[in-house]
Amino acid sequence: MSSDKSPTNAGKPTGVLAEILREQEIRQRGYREQALKIYPHVCASCGREFSGKRLRELTVHHRDHNHDNNPPDGSNWELLCVYCHDHEHEKSLIGKYYEGQRPPDAQPPPLVSNPFDKLDSLLKPKQGEQKS
Ligand SMILES: [Zn+2]
Ligand SMILES: [Zn+2]
Repeated sequence: MSSDKSPTNAGKPTGVLAEILREQEIRQRGYREQALKIYPHVCASCGREFSGKRLRELTVHHRDHNHDNNPPDGSNWELLCVYCHDHEHEKSLIGKYYEGQRPPDAQPPPLVSNPFDKLDSLLKPKQGEQKS
C-alpha cells in the first residue's frame, strides 16, 4: 500500500513491463487478502488453522481454475494450505494445464483421457504464471 519506496520513477526506461508485473502481483495479492478477509484462516481441505507467519502457507485456490475470475463475494475462491493445494491440482492433472493457459471454453476436464490432451501440452502454458 504505502510501502512503495520509489516516489518518482521518472526517467526510468524499464517502466512498462515492470509496471505490468507489479500490477499483476498487486492484483493477486489483492484477492488473496480479500479471500483471507472473507474466509476463516483454515484450510478448506484438511481443516488446519493458520495464523501469524504460517498464514503464508495458506493459499487461494480458484475453483474454476481461472485466475481472472475473482468475484468480490469470493465464490470462486477456496483457501487451501500449500499441501492440499498441490494435491488439489494433482487430482485433476489436466487442471494444471488449464490453470496455466485457460482454454477458451472452460469445460471441466474429462475423466478419461481424450485426444486433445496432446494438444494441450503442445500449447504450453505461458511461463511465469503464478501458482495459486
Ligand atoms: Zn490443507
Ligand atoms: Zn489452484
